[in-house]
Amino acid sequence: MELQDQVAIVTGGSRGIGRAIALELARAGARVVVNYRSRSEAADAVVAEITEAGGQARAVAADVSTTEGADALVAAAEEWGPVDILVNNAGITADGLVLMMSDEQWQSVLDVNAGGCFRMCRAVMRGMVRRRKGSIINLTSISGIRGNAGQANYSASKAAIIGMTRSMAREVAKRKVRINAVAPGFIRTDMTNALPDAVIDGATKMIPMRRMGEPEEIAPIVRFLAGPGAAYVTGQLFVVDGGMSC
Ligand code: NAD
Repeated sequence: MELQDQVAIVTGGSRGIGRAIALELARAGARVVVNYRSRSEAADAVVAEITEAGGQARAVAADVSTTEGADALVAAAEEWGPVDILVNNAGITADGLVLMMSDEQWQSVLDVNAGGCFRMCRAVMRGMVRRRKGSIINLTSISGIRGNAGQANYSASKAAIIGMTRSMAREVAKRKVRINAVAPGFIRTDMTNALPDAVIDGATKMIPMRRMGEPEEIAPIVRFLAGPGAAYVTGQLFVVDGGMSC
């Protein structure tokens, strides 16, 4: 297996896309740290699913939007050994039209999505650079590429992730650390389940494949980017959206 015994952190790995990524990396042989913020039962269920299938995983609570949380998460993962793979998947929305958007709505989304990604990258980077080994995959969104009405905060945070992925990739490429971004389109998770049916119907009509994606259709791209098949790939953005942005 291509990721045998490599230590991987998946932030927000307890449900949705993060859960599918945690399961996929474990199937590739990685030892997976399943991070969650508050719901331990969901994270414990992912860990149980992995271990019952013969894989290795553990759940670690941490709020990645704070420096203390990000540093503590990496320290907990390092009890298993140096971190080889980081998947920055944790993300939130707080949608609203810009005229109605509060400072809190703006700041909380920037803090978790862009701030969490930055803090986690910084926390693993020194070890990766020192060991000349590491792959980071950041979850962004097509909303960060094309924008989306009602998501000025979210699309700003996801565009920031694309920019920081490219800048960081240039900083550490010489040290054999790779950083790439994956931009899902419209994927069936708790995040999109919260949307009104009319919004889901409208968005589905704009997808050439005429359906939402599944978390299990994002995870294999992340597995590929984490592994040796992507050894010469860094600073890139992979859009997985059923053709929505083509
Ligand atoms: P989700 O809401 O189902 O799960 C988000 C996860 O992030 C949860 O496990 C949650 O606990 C965790 N999280 C949130 N804030 C956190 C924090 N401060 N610290 C640690 N963990 C935190 O979302 P999802 O749909 O699975 O989305 C996963 C990622 O993919 C997000 O970054 C999201 O922006 C992105 N994305 C999703 C879609 C989609 O259509 N679902 C589309 C494009 C991009």
